[in-house]
Amino acid sequence: MRTWSSVTLPRVPGTPPPLRLYDTATGRLRPTAPGRTARMYVCGITPYDATHLGHAATYLAFDLVHRAWLDAGIDVHYVQNVTDIDEPLLERAERDQDDWIVLGLRETALFREDMEALRVLPPRHFVGAVESIPEIVEVIAKLLADGAAYRAEDPEYADIYFDHTVTGKFGYESNYDHETMARLFAERGGDPDRPGKHDPLDALLWRCARPGEPSWESELGPGRPGWHIECSAIAVNRLGMTFDVQGGGSDLIFPHHEFSAAHAEAQTGVHPFARHYVHAGMIGLDGEKMSKSRGNLVFVSRLRADGVDPSTIRLALFSGHYRTDRAWTAALLSEAEARLSRWQEAASLPAGPAAEPTVVRLREHLADDLDTPRALAALDAWVADALRRDGTDPAAPALIRSAVDALLGIVLQ
Ligand code: ZN
Repeated sequence: MRTWSSVTLPRVPGTPPPLRLYDTATGRLRPTAPGRTARMYVCGITPYDATHLGHAATYLAFDLVHRAWLDAGIDVHYVQNVTDIDEPLLERAERDQDDWIVLGLRETALFREDMEALRVLPPRHFVGAVESIPEIVEVIAKLLADGAAYRAEDPEYADIYFDHTVTGKFGYESNYDHETMARLFAERGGDPDRPGKHDPLDALLWRCARPGEPSWESELGPGRPGWHIECSAIAVNRLGMTFDVQGGGSDLIFPHHEFSAAHAEAQTGVHPFARHYVHAGMIGLDGEKMSKSRGNLVFVSRLRADGVDPSTIRLALFSGHYRTDRAWTAALLSEAEARLSRWQEAASLPAGPAAEPTVVRLREHLADDLDTPRALAALDAWVADALRRDGTDPAAPALIRSAVDALLGIVLQ
């Protein structure tokens, strides 16, 4: 699939400290230790609706990871998928009397536009599920041959399921107890009550073709892949095992990331799938999680159409920490607008206080598990001094503009 356009980042003098991120699997803040190339996979959208601020917050958090590594002189191999065949897409197409292919293409195009407008650095590989079906089938066939997967005992639809106990490490990523796993599996697209499974927690790998549903011919018989195996195959085939960061929203901790990891580990015999499992918090509106089912979505494209500067959206979301669940409010947006205008005013002055110590603090806060609230506060302090005409360094405003652009993706005109 075609990815989106990149932007040229200014080089900022100096060297950042190594990036440390909170890892869900170990429950600890640990340094990301990439070699010359950092490898990151972030779960992409199911393209049945426009990009809302919850999505934006997640992709912006991992954009900061991407930028921090580039700032450290590390090459970044970033992969993201598009789940362009799945139940929600088919259900929406059915509801709206739309063609699921057209719906998927239209929403993926809008997602690219939103990402470009937000200046999110593009993945090197932006991969659709449909175009990956042959490689996904290959992985499922191997899991079946190795006894890690089985056919449901159902004479009509012998769907293929993954035996979640096969690696002996299931649960290490989420650290949830069995009761929590069972609850979340049922809530988030699992099928615990499906007859013919060996265990209620086993996840679908291949759904045999049903009348009226899209399906693909394969050595497994006609059908379509499950969601977790899609990400697992796409990631392993491009990044290899034990890549640096597996990312997504916190609602993907279980079952999605647990199963993606287990599938890959069962297939390759290598542990772990990823060195870090990194999760962004949820964005709420009026005290509730922003979600499709509640119908309380704020779309990036809507804000753009209303003339909101994408840098304002970045500043508003960065005013909270990426891991915390937080609320989107009108006040948050107006505070971000006021902050952006102060920053722009200070950055356009002919001189300011020396900027190097502020750049050092900005890098330190970002390297500390993307602590954007403190990073923004460090910049606020420089801006306040500059606006008091405290400084005489003519190079300072340009250095601040470069650092804010390269590290936060925010453009000060
Ligand atoms: Zn995924």
